Amino acid sequence: FRVPEPVNEPVRDYAPSSPERASLEQRLRTMSGERVEAPNVIDGRDVTTGDTFVARAPHRHDLELADVHAAGRDEVQQAIEAALAAKHDWSRTPFEHRCAIFLRAAELLAGPWRDTLNAATVLHQSKSVLQAEIDAACELIDFLRFNVAFAQRVYDEQPQSVAGEWNRTDHRPLEGFVLAVTPFNFTAIAGNLPTAPALMGNTVVWKPSEKQALSAHHLMRLLQAAGLPDGVINLVHGDGAQAVDVATASPHLGGLHFTGSAAVLSGLFRKVGENIDRFRAFPRIVGESGGKDFVVAHPSADVDRLVVALGRGAFEYQGQKCSAASRAYVPRSVWQHVRDPLADLASSLTMGDVGEDLSTFMGAVIDGRAWARHRDAIDQAAHAGAEVLVGGDPDDADGWFVPPTVLVTDDPRASTMTEELFGPILTVHVYDDADFDTVLGEVDQAAPYALTGSIFADDRRAVARATDALRDTAGNFYVNDKPTGSIVGRQPFGGARRSGTNDKAGSVLNLQRWVSPRVIKETW
Ligand code: GLU
Repeated sequence: FRVPEPVNEPVRDYAPSSPERASLEQRLRTMSGERVEAPNVIDGRDVTTGDTFVARAPHRHDLELADVHAAGRDEVQQAIEAALAAKHDWSRTPFEHRCAIFLRAAELLAGPWRDTLNAATVLHQSKSVLQAEIDAACELIDFLRFNVAFAQRVYDEQPQSVAGEWNRTDHRPLEGFVLAVTPFNFTAIAGNLPTAPALMGNTVVWKPSEKQALSAHHLMRLLQAAGLPDGVINLVHGDGAQAVDVATASPHLGGLHFTGSAAVLSGLFRKVGENIDRFRAFPRIVGESGGKDFVVAHPSADVDRLVVALGRGAFEYQGQKCSAASRAYVPRSVWQHVRDPLADLASSLTMGDVGEDLSTFMGAVIDGRAWARHRDAIDQAAHAGAEVLVGGDPDDADGWFVPPTVLVTDDPRASTMTEELFGPILTVHVYDDADFDTVLGEVDQAAPYALTGSIFADDRRAVARATDALRDTAGNFYVNDKPTGSIVGRQPFGGARRSGTNDKAGSVLNLQRWVSPRVIKETW
C-alpha cells in the first residue's frame, strides 16, 4: 500500500464576520469560562495527583484556565512502565494501522478539533489567532500528515540482494522508551515530539512545558479520540528536571526528543553521560535549542521587503520563536531609508487581549520571569549606550506585556546582539557600506548559535558571498525573506552549533532517528 500524498493544510484567515471567526470566538468564550482539570494520562487513564498548578492567560492575570495535576516521581515512573508495557504490541502493529491513527488525528484537527486547539493556544500561550492557526492547526496537521509519508520513505529504504542472497532491513523502533520534553512556544512542536517517535513504533513519555499545559491536555484528548492505544504516549505534567531525572535513572531510556533552551539541552546530554553505563542501549538525543537569528542587509537590499521582514521576523508571537530575527546588520545607506518605516511599523502593531479581539497582532510574553528579563535587557542596553528607537516600556498591569522594541547600537558585541532573549526585541547594528564582508565574519562569530538567518540583497554576488561566509551560521538560511515561518515538507527545520543536533523537524531525517534497523541476510 502507499500512504496518501501529503498536502500542506491551507491557512484560514478568520476574516471579520466569517463563520470560522464566529465559531472560534464561541470556543474562546467557553474555554475562558470553563477552567478544566488537566490530569496526567498514563496507560490511557487520567491520573490526578492533587498537586496542582494553575494555568493562566499571560495577557490576563485574572484568567485562570486549568488546574493542572503535576506528576510526582511515582507518576513519571508509572508512565515509563506503561510505555514499556505497551511497547511489544505497538512495535508489532503494522505501519498501516499505526499511520492510520495519526492521519485520523490530522483530519480531526483539520475539522472538529481545530477551534479547541487554536483557542487553547491563544489563551494559554498568548498567541494571536493567526499565529495559533499556523501553529496548532496547520503546522501540527502538516507534521502528522507528512511524517507518515516520511516514515514510508524510511521503511522503503532497503539494501541490495544478489542471486542466492536476500538482504532486508527491519526498521525496528529504538530500545526501551522515548522521553519527549516539549516547549511552550509551538503547539505543533509539542505534538510532533511525541508523535514522530510513536509513529515509528516507539512508546513515549511526554512532558510538556507547564506554560503550554492547556493545549497539551487537549492534544492528548485528540490523540485518544483518534484511536491511539493506551500506553503509547503517556502524558506527565509538571517539573521537567524531575522527569529527566527519573527517565535517566531507567536502564530503558532509548531516546530523547527535546526542544527548549541550550542550557537544558546541555543538561540532558550531561545527565545521559553521567548515567551512560546504566542504559541497555546508548540513548539517542534529538534536540533543538536556541537561536540568535540574524538579518544581514547588503547595500543592494530592497528596503520595503527588509522592513516587513524585520517587523514580522522580530515581533510575530512576541519574538518567542527560536527562529525570531533578533539582530540585524544594516548598511548606513540602507538604514536611512529603513529607520522611519521600521519605527512606524513597530509602533503601529497592536498588542493586547488576543482572546478578546481576534485582530490583535501581539499578546503578552509567556510569564513574569520572561517579562522581567526583557525589561532588564532593554534597561541595560540603553544604559550601555543603545538608542531605544521604539518600544522599551514594558507594562504588567493586566498581563505580561512587552511592546515591540527596536534598539540601535554601534557595538556589534552589545549583549542584545549576542545573547538570546526570546522576546520582542530587535537590535540593529548600522555598519559602513564598505564593510559588508567584515560584517559577514562578525555575524558568524558573534553568537554561539546557528539556527536561522537571512540575507537581503539584490546583487547576486553579495548573495553568493553571504551564502558561503554564513555556511555554518544557520541551519535554515533565507534569501530575501524573514528567518521565521518554516513549513513542513518545504523548509525542514533545525540548526547546529548550540542550536541543537540539526535532525530537521519536518523531514525524513527526523523520522530516521526513531528507528534502530536490523539487517537480515538470508541465503539459500
Ligand atoms: N519552525 C519555526 C519557525 O520557522 C520555529 C520553531 C521554534 O521556535 O522552535 O519559525
